[in-house]
Amino acid sequence: MTNFNEVILLKYGEIVLKGLNKSYFEGLLLNDIKDRIKKYGKYNVRRAQSTVYVEPMDDESKLNFDRTFEECRKIFGIVSCCRAATVEKDMKKILEVLPLYTDEKLKSVKTFKMDAKRADKQFPYDSPSISKECGAVLLRRHKHLKVDVKNPDTVVMVEIRDYAAYIHCGKVNGAGGLPCGCAGKGLLLLSGGIDSPVAGYRMARRGVTIDALHFESYPYTSVQAREKVIELAQIMTDYCGNINLNIISVTHIQEELKNKCREEYFTLLLRRFMMKIAERVALKYGCGSIITGESVGQVASQTIPALTVTNDAVKKLPVIRPLIDNDKEEIVKYARLIGTFETSILPYEDCCTVFTPKHPATKPILEKIIAEENKVDVEALIEEALQTITYTKLERN
Ligand code: ATP
Ligand code: MG
Repeated sequence: MTNFNEVILLKYGEIVLKGLNKSYFEGLLLNDIKDRIKKYGKYNVRRAQSTVYVEPMDDESKLNFDRTFEECRKIFGIVSCCRAATVEKDMKKILEVLPLYTDEKLKSVKTFKMDAKRADKQFPYDSPSISKECGAVLLRRHKHLKVDVKNPDTVVMVEIRDYAAYIHCGKVNGAGGLPCGCAGKGLLLLSGGIDSPVAGYRMARRGVTIDALHFESYPYTSVQAREKVIELAQIMTDYCGNINLNIISVTHIQEELKNKCREEYFTLLLRRFMMKIAERVALKYGCGSIITGESVGQVASQTIPALTVTNDAVKKLPVIRPLIDNDKEEIVKYARLIGTFETSILPYEDCCTVFTPKHPATKPILEKIIAEENKVDVEALIEEALQTITYTKLERN
């Protein structure tokens, strides 16, 4: 009986387009992979031909193979993942391992497509011949199976590569995007809601390292509300890596706004304060952008005129709104994927829902809002709020 080992093959996507910078991106990706899976044992991680090979090297890593595979699916920069059998580059041995390795999968499907790729041109069979021989073996073994080249239930693949042949079926999608940390740092405005964790995830997927900022309004908002946000940031680390979470109190700002300004503008005035404070925090910690979970039309403070008013408060940095055109349903789908949904829907007040106006302005005019804003001492309130900052470092488990 021919022995074979199992490895994980990770194919990367956009990195292949990076030209002269490619090795920089590959380096980040490899480091991230190694860092994530080291808790599961000893692995050999190497790359060749736009593929990363993850090979278990000890008993522990072999035992944890399933977990490692799931972990790899969360890594940004990878577009597809599959488990593969490694076999010596010998047709007889390939044909021996192929049916064993694909047995379980092929019993559960009705149609398949056999595919082969011969990167090593020294191998004596070309790709069509490999496909033909392998396909015939599988069809003989599974009488129920039919070939469907257009829309198969599964693709069985034999790849003849540099050091070995690889057999796999059941390729699954990876997380996509670009490797962690390749796009600098961004400051995520993290509320306790559904949207902002998803916004952070989406920018992390583009390679942005996430710092987070939460505004609370204790005692109008509760200790549980704060703990919920810490929990959300902790869940996010699973995809986004370590997160520095800053928390700032806007209690006094809200009281001042309530006492001195028109109620219909209350939410927008608060949002302008949040943006101004966020910009200062972002600049202080070297974040190149502010990220929010806003989406056009979702609530009164997210109409285009309202966003114009909020946007005006930030002068030096881009405000990135990755969910700007997403329906709530699409956002919820992401929240479930990254595991934040159940925590997000816990019913604790956010500072935005404290003193909410009955009839918020949906078509605000910037000049009027600024005139209203000038009824309070903006600078002094910002300085005071910045003094309340606390900081929690959340690490990926
Ligand atoms: P979410 O589900 O993210 O809370 P939302 O639909 O409740 O969004 P808003 O409350 O208007 O909408 O907030 C819009 C965005 O402003 C949020 O996605 C978040 O980026 C930011 N934000 C709102 N409240 C806070 C807060 N307390 N601390 C930090 N950022 C906040
Ligand atoms: Mg909210």
